[in-house]
Amino acid sequence: MIKFLDLQKINAQYSQELKKAATRVIDSGWYLLGQELAAFEQNYTQFCGTTRALGVANGLDALRLIFKAYIALGVMQKGDEVIVPANTYIASVLAVTDNDLIPVFVEPNIDTYNIDSTKLEAAITNKTKAVLAVHLYGQIAVDTTMLAICKKYGLKLIEDAAQSHGAVWNKKTSGGIGDAAGHSFYPGKNLGALGDAGAVTTNDSHLATTIKALRNYGSHKKYENLYQGLNSRLDELQAAFLNVKLNYIQKEIVARRNVANYYLKHINNPAIILPSCHAELVEAHVWHLFVIRIKNRDRLQQYLTKNGVQTLIHYPIPPHKQQAYKQYNNLRFPITEKIHHEVLSLPISPVMTKEEIEKVVDVINNYS
Ligand SMILES: *Cc1c(COP(=O)(O)O)cnc(C)c1O
Repeated sequence: MIKFLDLQKINAQYSQELKKAATRVIDSGWYLLGQELAAFEQNYTQFCGTTRALGVANGLDALRLIFKAYIALGVMQKGDEVIVPANTYIASVLAVTDNDLIPVFVEPNIDTYNIDSTKLEAAITNKTKAVLAVHLYGQIAVDTTMLAICKKYGLKLIEDAAQSHGAVWNKKTSGGIGDAAGHSFYPGKNLGALGDAGAVTTNDSHLATTIKALRNYGSHKKYENLYQGLNSRLDELQAAFLNVKLNYIQKEIVARRNVANYYLKHINNPAIILPSCHAELVEAHVWHLFVIRIKNRDRLQQYLTKNGVQTLIHYPIPPHKQQAYKQYNNLRFPITEKIHHEVLSLPISPVMTKEEIEKVVDVINNYS
């Protein structure tokens, strides 16, 4: 079976260095908010081209903390609206509703699957405070139209950069394009820890200082609390692993692009719609997922399983159709719903062999 994602094989490449990092942390006697985190925050600001990075417990918390900090700073208040893509992973929306902000869903572009910036303006009301741009599947969702609209209406542009580490658009790196960004280092993400981990990046020092307190009970100084915060810290062990893996992310992005390019060039089954990536925007996509579309998706998935190719669906049910969001179940987003019915994610990773990539293509091209 060709695995969808072979995490064991990915991390085995770095196992010596990861073990050394773990030993260093174990022997240090210091497990939270120490040197490893400080080093990672420094390394990650450089990687994203921002002035600040703050390690937090996971990607959902990174996004939750951004909104919480904007509320603490008086930039937003309960009941304000945040524009979110209708087509996204539910965590993007949970971060908004967890802060008693109102998500306003906007349909995606059917070619990129990212939020359609030409539909943003119609969704803006006098309560709109931010746009949450989710760089879905690894492709930058921001464009010049979105930037202009955020500027015109004074909206914060927040990036959900959970899937897009290292993607570059307009000379800026994912996480350094908007006002603030939430990153996930969930093990299966392009930059994955060996457990849960996340980060916020920003150039806004007020926001960074606020999040630094909020991730640690709202405390800016030991036993003094400015805010009602969370416990959402990135522990030393995960920070040490991330310091190792950050050294290899660029190499891994190249490997992912090679797999994607091979698929794009050689999959020629007319029933299948391939993902689109404009020639002038190759750097803006880091191929966290390679998502195809087909009418009878479940039938293709069964066929691929039978022929030794593991696939996944990102995602089978959109947020507004989830039981958790009953109040939105009657909303209609036909493009989003079509995408959720038709998408299938093929195996893609930096450790796939040439034989595996060729086999995936052969099996798909023989499907009828
Ligand atoms: C993974 C993911 C998150 C959440 O990250 P966690 O670290 O799992 O909490 C948020 N948004 C998107 C788009 C994701 O893919």
